[in-house]
Amino acid sequence: MISRRSFVSKSALALAGFSISKNSSPVNISQNINSLPIVISTWNHGLPANEAAWEILSKGGNSLDAVEAGVRIPEADPKVITVGYGGIPDSGGKVTLDACIMDEKGRAGSVACLENIKHPISVARLVMEKTPHVMLTGKGALQFALDNGFEKENLLTPQMKKPGRSGKRKKAFNTKINIENQVLENHDTIGMLAIDRDGRISGACTTSGMGYKMPGRVGDSPIIGAGLFVDGEVGGAAATGSGELVMKTLGSFLVVELMRNGMSPTEACEEAVHRIAKKIPNYQQHQVGFIALNKSGEYGSYCIQPGFNFAVKTENKTVLEDAETWIKKL
Ligand code: ASP
Repeated sequence: MISRRSFVSKSALALAGFSISKNSSPVNISQNINSLPIVISTWNHGLPANEAAWEILSKGGNSLDAVEAGVRIPEADPKVITVGYGGIPDSGGKVTLDACIMDEKGRAGSVACLENIKHPISVARLVMEKTPHVMLTGKGALQFALDNGFEKENLLTPQMKKPGRSGKRKKAFNTKINIENQVLENHDTIGMLAIDRDGRISGACTTSGMGYKMPGRVGDSPIIGAGLFVDGEVGGAAATGSGELVMKTLGSFLVVELMRNGMSPTEACEEAVHRIAKKIPNYQQHQVGFIALNKSGEYGSYCIQPGFNFAVKTENKTVLEDAETWIKKL
């Protein structure tokens, strides 16, 4: 039987002109409505990132400023070896960064394969705000950053140059790709979603990508709709894990569309993982995790393998939660 709350919610969606898929499970919003503002982000490094976002959100600031400030924390932290400065290089020894940002108005900016700039998220924001384009890549992205006052920095830390690291990581890469928490020091992409006091939702996603990737490889993280998608009328979603699987299913866009059609954030993330499981034969060899946040402040998550967690911050809550998983045991 459909609960009154989900009925009200579905009715409101229907009145607002949204289609409701017949296959959608009932909306389950009663469990998890949170007061605004709220910020959620992927992995343990989401905790300090959320704190930086909260500084802005708690003062009534804009969610766009909050997500940018939030993800700049792991970008600058050399201990986070899958984001920004200190990130794992590609197989040619270069650190190349991918990032994107999106706000509730549908504005978006992105950079891919950017070298020597510590904060790709801020370059992505400038692409959004100062250019007629959505995405800049490689040398063009670097030139744009330098033209806008960013400094060129060496992002390859001594830790990443240590002999033996490359062999160890390459082995991990070649066997079971990117199954988090199995590979030492692997903490992955940060995707962050936030709603401010005025109900505006924004998202950011930033990464150094898959460790020892082929030179020139770009993953899902800077692709609008894959690594991140935000729709101010519905909510947002972000992805982490093997980007190729997320790109082939346009995962974050899919999650948002499923929420539009009435699913809860958790149900939508589960369905996006199910889509991967249905379409991609060797999906068991990979990890993918989604987080989602709807306009009401309800959040959810789902992943392929156990081991993916995400950080949540509201006025009353600062927690790290384990995502539900498709494969229940490794
Ligand atoms: N999604 C990122 C990529 O494929 C990596 C990750 O989140 O682990 O580049």
